[in-house]
Amino acid sequence: MEIINFPHPTLRHTSMPIIRVDAELRKTVGEMFDLMYAAKGIGLAANQVNLPLQLFVINLAAEKGKGEEMVFINPVLSAPKGSAEANEGCLSLAGVEAMVSRPDQIHVSAYDIEGNTIDRIYKGFLARVIQHEYDHIKGVMFIDRISESEKRLVDGEIEAFELEFEAARQSGTIGSDADIALHIKAIEDRYCR
Ligand code: ZN
Repeated sequence: MEIINFPHPTLRHTSMPIIRVDAELRKTVGEMFDLMYAAKGIGLAANQVNLPLQLFVINLAAEKGKGEEMVFINPVLSAPKGSAEANEGCLSLAGVEAMVSRPDQIHVSAYDIEGNTIDRIYKGFLARVIQHEYDHIKGVMFIDRISESEKRLVDGEIEAFELEFEAARQSGTIGSDADIALHIKAIEDRYCR
């Protein structure tokens, strides 16, 4: 398992709800936390590891054994309130940071990895991280939400990711769109149908 970078097509795929949680998926979630900690991240969505599933993990402590490990499956966000602006980054665009405006409060319905229902209001920084990860599973990235002036500041860095992706495609490290579509269908067949 590895983190895929912008502009990999799976990051733009709208993930399907999970109808089956098995031992393999639980193991995958553990691996996602490990990858996230290795990258010093606080959130990671399944499609950032090339799995087109409605699932993301968060630990604001960014360190194994510290903080709280949170798993959100099939999340539904509603009742946004307020607005706040803060700097965001992303493990699929490492090094790129920009200001993003989001609601300051959000209601979340979801399941955790044990199948327990999550049904509560999140505020502040955690609400921001949840919204960032939720965007991922809908195929949205934080650079889609930044202003034109912020965009100009990071355009060069984003272009570097695009060039790197093209090079990986040329060398065969990243498969064709058809290969990726087949992979996505196989994962969806296993967990979503
Ligand atoms: Zn991200």
